[in-house]
Amino acid sequence: MTTIILGGGLAGLSLAHFLKDDSIVLEKEEQTGGLCRSFQLNGVSYDVGPHIMFSRNHVVLDEMVSLVETSRIKRSNKIFHKGRLVKYPFENDLAALEPAERDYCLKEFLSNPYEGYGAGNMLHFFLKTFGEGITKLYLQPYNEKIWKFDPAFMDTQMVERIPKPPKEDIIKSAQGVETEGYVHQLYFHYPKKGGIQCLVDAYRNLASKKAKIVSSVNIRKIGKDKGGWIVETDKGRFSGKTLINCMPLHELFQYIEAPDEIRNTLNELKYNSLYTITVQSKKDNAGDNFALNFADKNVVFHRISKLNFLGKNYCLPKGGSTIIAEITYRPESYLAGFTDEEIKQKVLDDLEALKLVKKTDVTAVELRKFKYAYVIYDLSHRKNAAKVLQYLKGIGIRCCGRFAEFEYLNMDQTIEHSHNLADEFNGVSHGG
Ligand SMILES: Cc1cc2nc3c(=O)[nH]c(=O)nc-3n(C[C@H](O)[C@H](O)[C@H](O)COP(=O)(O)OP(=O)(O)OC[C@H]3O[C@@H](n4cnc5c(N)ncnc54)[C@H](O)[C@@H]3O)c2cc1C
Repeated sequence: MTTIILGGGLAGLSLAHFLKDDSIVLEKEEQTGGLCRSFQLNGVSYDVGPHIMFSRNHVVLDEMVSLVETSRIKRSNKIFHKGRLVKYPFENDLAALEPAERDYCLKEFLSNPYEGYGAGNMLHFFLKTFGEGITKLYLQPYNEKIWKFDPAFMDTQMVERIPKPPKEDIIKSAQGVETEGYVHQLYFHYPKKGGIQCLVDAYRNLASKKAKIVSSVNIRKIGKDKGGWIVETDKGRFSGKTLINCMPLHELFQYIEAPDEIRNTLNELKYNSLYTITVQSKKDNAGDNFALNFADKNVVFHRISKLNFLGKNYCLPKGGSTIIAEITYRPESYLAGFTDEEIKQKVLDDLEALKLVKKTDVTAVELRKFKYAYVIYDLSHRKNAAKVLQYLKGIGIRCCGRFAEFEYLNMDQTIEHSHNLADEFNGVSHGG
């Protein structure tokens, strides 16, 4: 009855735990956890960009929080806009802008000519929901920067759940009266120590009671055999009745046979890779902030996060600070052409120019690259992803997880999808 699970990230490990039958998890890297891995720099654990635990789904949030010891922390994120710090989300702190920009944002929000139109793409959605001022000053440039893709060519899947802010809130925000937006992530949980790896390790421990987890394995070929599946690897042949893919689709297709038409569609699925540059400094000049967003294209990173904010176990023993800067890039893009040293230098130059870190105070810099970081919801994504997943389902391969389903899934949604797929395999009916 064994199920073979490809990929030992959060999806693969939680699924192995939720399935009632035995499974084998095959993971390429030595360390399981995928995007939920954490690394150490001088005793401070850091993630692939800090992974905070929050969810609209209270059942999943309770499950995550029950598995690790966490702190509950109030968000303190800001947007760095022309030398000013604007509280996140931008539209809830218009009073922090210079008066002309504040009035531009407020007037275009209250009297918005785009309000009555449908939103055919992400840019339309921003204009329709927030008006021209907020869109042009922040939402458009920030999204261009993080996606490295024009929001006019992206669909609305990412943003369609964002509610239109109440007029009273935006008026208050322009008057300097504090309001909060995106309240479902105003408070979040974070492991007291060890970074987000603790969460994925907890699932691994639970899974390993009945699953075999094989890491550092190189898959060579995947094929069908007498109604089951055979996966050939450098650590031997694994056979199973069922195959579930939790690794990126682009990886899976290296090992299976597929018609050209499907491969061509797969190649149309776009994603961003990520550099994280972790910088430790003897001093802490970033204020009492967790994350700062930068829409300015002259700054190389789109976000920095200060880990001190996450609790005493994320502070260096003798003070100072640990900051992670994030830079997205596409494998074939301009930014991918720089050497690691050049990227590190650009980050340090920008941190110094912004007076956030002085180069002479820097004690350590570590760069990491993650090939599969962000699914891009371009205008053809929905159609292309559905076609590829339908093909795989047709040949008996089910997919679960962020790059396996090719959806922008956060940890809570990844776990939710694992639960749902496991229920299906376990024969659990949800009724109705
Ligand atoms: C920068 C960033 C910040 C994020 N922040 C948050 C956050 O704050 N909160 C939140 O809830 N979520 C966050 N997420 C999302 C979260 O990381 C994902 O939801 C989750 O990690 C997805 O897990 P997964 O198992 O589907 O994918 P992955 O973690 O990508 O796992 C895939 C696994 O497949 C393995 N694999 C790949 N190729 C092969 C191969 N050839 N053979 C075998 N194995 C292979 C990989 O090594 C990996 O272990 C963030 C994501 C990113 C990129």
